Amino acid sequence: MAYLCRRLPTLLPAGSLRNAACVGWKHVCDRPRFMTTAATQTACESHEPHFLQSVESYFDHAAKLSNVSEGTLSHIRAVDSMIRVTFPIELDDGRTEVIEGYRAQHSRHRLPVKGGIRYSEEVDLQEVEALASLMTYKCAVVDVPFGGAKGGIKIDPSRYTLDQLERITRRYTMELCQKKFIGPGVDVPAPDVGTGPREMSWIMDTYRQFNPDDINAQGCVTGKPLAQGGVRGRTEATGLGVYYGVREFLTYPEIQKLTGLTGKIKDTTVIVQGFGNVGYYAAKFFESNGAKVIGIGERDCSVFDRHGLDIEALFKHHRSTGSFRGYSDSVEIIDEPTQVLERDCDILIPAALERQIGLRNADKIKAKIVGEAANGPMTPGAHELLEKRGIVVIPDLLLNAGGVTVSYFEWLKNLSHVRFGRMNKKWDESVRTKLLTVVEENAGRVLTEAERKQIVHGAEEADLIYSGLEDTMISSCEETRQTANLKKVDYRTAAYINAIQKIATVYEGSGMIFMT
Ligand code: GLU
Repeated sequence: MAYLCRRLPTLLPAGSLRNAACVGWKHVCDRPRFMTTAATQTACESHEPHFLQSVESYFDHAAKLSNVSEGTLSHIRAVDSMIRVTFPIELDDGRTEVIEGYRAQHSRHRLPVKGGIRYSEEVDLQEVEALASLMTYKCAVVDVPFGGAKGGIKIDPSRYTLDQLERITRRYTMELCQKKFIGPGVDVPAPDVGTGPREMSWIMDTYRQFNPDDINAQGCVTGKPLAQGGVRGRTEATGLGVYYGVREFLTYPEIQKLTGLTGKIKDTTVIVQGFGNVGYYAAKFFESNGAKVIGIGERDCSVFDRHGLDIEALFKHHRSTGSFRGYSDSVEIIDEPTQVLERDCDILIPAALERQIGLRNADKIKAKIVGEAANGPMTPGAHELLEKRGIVVIPDLLLNAGGVTVSYFEWLKNLSHVRFGRMNKKWDESVRTKLLTVVEENAGRVLTEAERKQIVHGAEEADLIYSGLEDTMISSCEETRQTANLKKVDYRTAAYINAIQKIATVYEGSGMIFMT
């Protein structure tokens, strides 16, 4: 089967990408990158749709149930603009390497557009297009008033020195600046796979050099280090959001009925695939709230212990040695890394890359709930199979939206030029102190110093960020649940329907949509 090749975006250098873009629209095998050769062959044999086709098929399925007009739907679905840039970089041995970068802006129905930048050898136009589309829907699901975007540089960051990485990042940012693909009111990147606060600070600094008179320059990128305009809580936001989302779903009676789980985190066993920023923090929050994290998967091998793993100790070992091997004799090392997905547990959190659960392994999943912490970790066929088997799937566009939610808070902080809590913390504390004194006088009991401190304490930035994130996740989960129950559809379809309807109201010009 061959898919039609769509129009090439006008911003692409004429002709240069025609072949690459067309190939993406054929029915090609997109092998999961965690896989070994044997597993790859099985995956390829199943001929599942490509990542972009998966996102579009989820969209199309939900679109039919959304009561939105055909014209508006096709407007929402299409990617607005994309760029591909190439630039030379000098290596240590004097050779020159040509680096390839991309940025896709999926929907500018709300500005700025927002989404991460990933550094990975697998990055291509089609992947950033898929990820940019997902960002549009994700922002709408959690009422973050942005359009969606995504960027990437086609490199394996571990192959470059710090100095080279800095030059690559700065040069890519220069290209974005020249093409007006970055700016606090235009397009605001963030961290993604292979990037973090360090890269974000290089991006901001480069943007500043090109725009010295932009007083909102700090808001041109999020996920920055605290000292450079970052916000407390951004680093752990996606993992924490995953935890809040799963915790919320567990409280729903229909989920308890379907899964047989008690509804309490402390009664669950959890397996996390991926021990990067998202996987690490998700595992940490599950563990610190009483769950037993029994398995963690990584690229070279996985680690499993039915009695529960010590996440911090494991993380330290992994960071210093680059592997789980040699951590402890009392834990099991699974050589085939994706096999950890198939172990018995209550909650499975794929927090690595796309397409880790496909038709080749969906029938082997034993979890009762699969919470998508990564973007696109499951193929549509696998999703259908899991649903049929009564396994609850909490979709990526809802569950991993904590990152962009806190990015939104960081952007607000940058534009307002003031730290959250700065204006009201002392005032709140003095009002509460007065109130407590009156209560103590009338109740005849004087509070201990610790009790008093706990009640009087005014909200600081981290408190506000955490509470804003928690509230966002709880209300977005509930909104998704209501649509799922009303339309009798799965949670992914429900989240897409909600996103489509919210975006459509902006396109159709019916006024205020997002309840921010
Ligand atoms: N890269 C993250 C995501 O996929 C965060 C995006 C952002 O903060 O803009 O959601």
